[in-house]
Amino acid sequence: MRFSALEVANERPDAKPDLLNKNIKDIYASNVFNDEKMKRYLSKEAYQAIQNAIINGTSISRDTADQIASGMKRWAIERGATHYTHWFQPLTGSTAEKHDSFYHPSDGTVVDKFSADELVQQEPDASSLPSGGLRNTFEARGYTAWDPSSPAFIYENTAGKTLCIPTVFVSYNGEALDFKAPLLKSLQALNHAATSACKLFFNDVKRVTASLGVEQEYFLVDRALYNARPDLIMCGRTLFGYSAAKNQQMEDHYFGSIPDRVFNFMYDLEIESMKLGIPLRTRHNEVAPGQYECAPMFEDVNLANDHNQLLMDLMDEVARKHGFKALLHEKPFAGINGSGKHNNWSMITDTGVNLLAPGNNPDSNLAFLSFFVNTIKAVHDHNDLIRASIASASNEHRLGANEAPPAIISIFIGSTLTKLLDGLEKGLKPSASQNEGKKINLAHVPEILVDNTDRNRTSPFAFTGNKFELRAVGSHQNCASPMTVLNTAVANQLIEFKKEVEALIQSKKLKKKEAILETLASYIRHSKRILFEGNGYSEEWAAEAEKRGLSNIKDTPRAVKAFISESTMDLMGRNNILSKEELHARYEILLEGFAKEIQIEGRIIDELAYTQILPAAFRYQADVADSLNSLIEAGLPESAIEPQRQVLKNLAEHAYAFKNAVDQMVEERKKANKLTDSEQRAVAYSDKVKGLFSEIRYRGDKLERIIDDNLWEMPKYRELLYTR
Ligand code: ADP
Ligand code: MG
Repeated sequence: MRFSALEVANERPDAKPDLLNKNIKDIYASNVFNDEKMKRYLSKEAYQAIQNAIINGTSISRDTADQIASGMKRWAIERGATHYTHWFQPLTGSTAEKHDSFYHPSDGTVVDKFSADELVQQEPDASSLPSGGLRNTFEARGYTAWDPSSPAFIYENTAGKTLCIPTVFVSYNGEALDFKAPLLKSLQALNHAATSACKLFFNDVKRVTASLGVEQEYFLVDRALYNARPDLIMCGRTLFGYSAAKNQQMEDHYFGSIPDRVFNFMYDLEIESMKLGIPLRTRHNEVAPGQYECAPMFEDVNLANDHNQLLMDLMDEVARKHGFKALLHEKPFAGINGSGKHNNWSMITDTGVNLLAPGNNPDSNLAFLSFFVNTIKAVHDHNDLIRASIASASNEHRLGANEAPPAIISIFIGSTLTKLLDGLEKGLKPSASQNEGKKINLAHVPEILVDNTDRNRTSPFAFTGNKFELRAVGSHQNCASPMTVLNTAVANQLIEFKKEVEALIQSKKLKKKEAILETLASYIRHSKRILFEGNGYSEEWAAEAEKRGLSNIKDTPRAVKAFISESTMDLMGRNNILSKEELHARYEILLEGFAKEIQIEGRIIDELAYTQILPAAFRYQADVADSLNSLIEAGLPESAIEPQRQVLKNLAEHAYAFKNAVDQMVEERKKANKLTDSEQRAVAYSDKVKGLFSEIRYRGDKLERIIDDNLWEMPKYRELLYTR
């Protein structure tokens, strides 16, 4: 491309916000109605009611809610907010909001009002949001309801401020229409199950919360260049693009020094995040050129997920200010790494014990082993559902592609714990295995030294010392779906575990510790096929996984079917997380979303083919043909016109194959659109329509490589990836 956008990009002055003089302590959580503000703005009674709601899940009376609303309003108006909104997470994957003013006209002036009615429940006209059929039939209304466990916050736009109240979104009949409602239920289920299981080890645990720290990967591209790429604008990824000569093969980007303009963006993002109490701590370059990562300190899962959703919104806004576009698509560029979200997850008691951290005394280690092995078994038993919970048209490019976790869910635990589980499985009593001088003694399970350096980047679910890390989550995905599955599967498993241990104590008259070890040994035998320490990206693993009977479903329409399997219905129903109807609705929404995404990509491919790529090919063909004819006219010998001939031939060949494949794809799209069954339609989009994308792309990229740069209007990979 020789294109004005490139000059615009290079000439754009960097946004230089005055960031350096700000005191982090003053701005941290300044826009959050957090504990400290609640104490300041609420009566003791109202404050206590919120605390009880957060800690014990008790409900808040209308009167108290009125008091809370009044305090919240006072705080928000003092900070300059004019409007409020219920902030929710519909199944579109983005967040949703509808703003209302605090101010009501009254006698020629205005008065500010915000009561329990507005705080607790709203009925947004949300009929256009996906419901998977839950709202169409009988009752179209959807309600948002306040989630007191995630604090209200003020979102700042350049021109104004809005009080945002995190809410769930449900139908008239109470069915979940969002990501948050089932997540909250799963956290409650996990709390009950884990607290009960804790009674086997500790007698003072009253509550267990699940923790989540989300590492977020993203790309930054120059906004002017982005604006010249219809595929990036409409689909979030490049549908064409010949690989740049230099990619990530030099391995010089990862942890490299951060370019100044990028640093300014990151710093600004951190400042904005801090205001909202998002505890961002880490920033660095990622593997691919133009790819970066940030990570916060972990928090309670619900809050961490709200924060991640907010962070993605902030990224978009802050990037705009800095002349960037933040790409959150899982695979914006072919041939280089894609982006994911590593979900670091653990369970922590109210007494401060991380249940997935090996301890240094026998009792806490028996607890650790129990929660550790139960998590493995839960993931083993529901690996199809975990796979389904991360399935999307965009994540599909990553899962199973050569740099990303494969579509096979396996668990990496490291060599120390592998040895330990091996011994445990065999029922070895005292087994002495050396690890840096420490003994691992099974019978008494003393200090366990986990080798933290033993890391495996290729595993989709890895134990990393004191937490599990689900790495297959998509970079733009709402983490609630996989977290709901994980919480529920583990909760369900812990209930089983406690029952089995108690039954063994009863029936075999075993001591508690023996019963626990025996139960864990049976779990290890049952689940060990999911443990894998090798290279998850290798072909050998795919073959080995098949032998082990692990599923490897690469496409989304087939993967999401696990949402409506017997085992999922049973798991989700039994634990009161999602009913059969709700699961079916989600399944429908996923299928529809998938088909629509591929449909949009197909349309953009078609448009770009006919309005940019083929015209450029034909123009260049004419140029070369002209030059060839003039050489013939000049009476030059065959050998002199051979280069033109070859280029023309090459061009014609690729243009022909390109156009054919595009036309064929358009035909397949028409056929797919006629299918009324959503499953069949999604499968047709996956197999038939998307099935042609790679041939189209191969030919299109060949054309890009042949055609005169002057005639190629779309910014190329080298420009997109290397312009800072
Ligand atoms: P890595 O080396 O994998 O990049 P870090 O150790 O820096 O990871 O941690 C990554 C994320 O894991 C951070 O968000 C961190 O807060 C989070 N994390 C650490 N401990 C826990 C835990 N017990 N539960 C959940 N998340 C955790
Ligand atoms: Mg990590």
